[in-house]
Amino acid sequence: MADLTDLYQQIIVEHNRSPRNFKKLPHPTREAEGANPLCGDQIKLEVELDGDRIKDIGFQGSGCAISQASASLLTGAVQGKTTGEAQALFRAVHAMLTSAPGAAVDTAGLGKLAALGGVRQFPVRVKCASLPWHTLRAALGSTAEPVTTE
Ligand code: ZN
Repeated sequence: MADLTDLYQQIIVEHNRSPRNFKKLPHPTREAEGANPLCGDQIKLEVELDGDRIKDIGFQGSGCAISQASASLLTGAVQGKTTGEAQALFRAVHAMLTSAPGAAVDTAGLGKLAALGGVRQFPVRVKCASLPWHTLRAALGSTAEPVTTE
């Protein structure tokens, strides 16, 4: 189990050091901002939908290693997925993060996202890990289209 914890920590550290999809999108169709005042984490997610599929996704923001790594892992996990698949992933991650530390959690299908489950050992950090996911849900739930002159 110690080895697994080490592996999870490595994933968090590595994604914080080299975040994936830390970028601004040229043509976002959805966006949302989230903040976790408790820790000072801030995130802005931009999504480009192609029909019902997430064609591209990028995040910007600042915060602790866990919030940044979670956002990085999120963008990698939902890219190319349908909004329904992304919502299902949100529910799976949320269930994992809100279960009791040490409780058996079904992480099948979560892949590297299972690394985020390690924060259950530190309850104050759970909001850091879940912030990007709540922000994603807000972005996908929004129906506001950007104003266009074309
Ligand atoms: Zn944080």
